[in-house]
Amino acid sequence: MSDFDPIKSLADMRHEFGEHGGVNLSIEASTTFTVIDANTMPDIFQGRRGPNEVGGGCFLYGRHFNPTVYLLGKQLASLEGTEAGYCAASGMGAISSTVLQLCGNADHVVAGEAVYGGTFAFFKDYLPAKTGIRTTFVDSTDLKAVEAAFTPKTKVLYVESVTNPTLRVADIPRLAEIAHAHGAKLVVDNTFSPLIVSPIQHGADIVVHSLTKYINGASDIVAGAICGSTSFLAELMDLHTGSLMLLGPTLDPKSAFSISMRLPHLGLRMVEHSRRAATFATRLQELGVPVIYPGLPDHPDHAVLERIANPGFGHGGILALDLGDLRRANEFMEILQNKDRFGFMAVSLGYFETLMSCSASTTSSELSKEELERAGIRPGLVRLSVGYTGTLEQRWQQLQDALEILNLVAA
Ligand code: PLP
Repeated sequence: MSDFDPIKSLADMRHEFGEHGGVNLSIEASTTFTVIDANTMPDIFQGRRGPNEVGGGCFLYGRHFNPTVYLLGKQLASLEGTEAGYCAASGMGAISSTVLQLCGNADHVVAGEAVYGGTFAFFKDYLPAKTGIRTTFVDSTDLKAVEAAFTPKTKVLYVESVTNPTLRVADIPRLAEIAHAHGAKLVVDNTFSPLIVSPIQHGADIVVHSLTKYINGASDIVAGAICGSTSFLAELMDLHTGSLMLLGPTLDPKSAFSISMRLPHLGLRMVEHSRRAATFATRLQELGVPVIYPGLPDHPDHAVLERIANPGFGHGGILALDLGDLRRANEFMEILQNKDRFGFMAVSLGYFETLMSCSASTTSSELSKEELERAGIRPGLVRLSVGYTGTLEQRWQQLQDALEILNLVAA
């Protein structure tokens, strides 16, 4: 546990008023920006002037920094306790830009084997085919295996703070030590645990997010973020070599505005997601249903999460149930959606409604059968991103009824 308080950090930021004194920030929709003095323009191109206070608040072009997106980046940096942050058009835009910035041709990455399927495919298939960057996948909770995977070419150790969908927790302080001993950067995807875990406070170098999930919270915007040092963010936006600037995964300012409006209640939402997931997990375990939840004392990484979690936000809003096989998993989700409207069969997470998916055949289907087995993603594993609509007891009753209909617990 660190002394960092992400809610306080965000609240302590200078409040940004709208152009006409509005209590909310303005949406800067322009794609190009004018200057009073013609000499300012070459100064921006040469990096002598820029969007921050030191650079005089100078903007150039919408694919470079945009004021509304820039402000959201600063809010996310406050939330994660980094010097700087900027946004991308998706989580994958943030992840791919970060890795391509840190690695050169034929460099090497060590990555957790149970990462999100799209991330896995990017490392396993896309990078070697297009760039020669190779990845060794390891069980990121096995620190000896992590250490052994490093080579002189390793530039990045990449993990998810809480893995998707197996809910293993990264021991970020130890992983940071290993990465730094090898001169590599630790990049942490904190999509599953905003506010709950603050990876930078435990030694990570860069945090990436899919804002599409909890941070936005309404399943209506696809977006991503990168939080890190000022110099790394400047590298990403370099006019000659910056992957955010040149690959162009630009976040639209209207989306940035909407996400920014939802940050003030992220804390309240995370507390309620966690409270409901923890209650369901505890009751499911009492009924003898195989459930994975890092808040349960017998979860293999419970102690790690207790050590690194910020107090007050619980253990996260996701739990996974092993229903044995795909047929039963599908029946279970169909009852919950079509009989009771407990939630929706849909990928993604962090929505106000409960979302249910069977990971092996959906969001982790990029992994082969052997890779799924090694990562512990079993065919009947159902991931529940627990929402907060309805009352907790109403939702619990629906969950219990579905288990009874399938004879998974006694009626
Ligand atoms: N990281 C994690 C943990 C995810 O679950 C996802 C998407 O499901 C992503 C990254 C990719 O984010 P996006 O869909 O916003 O590109």
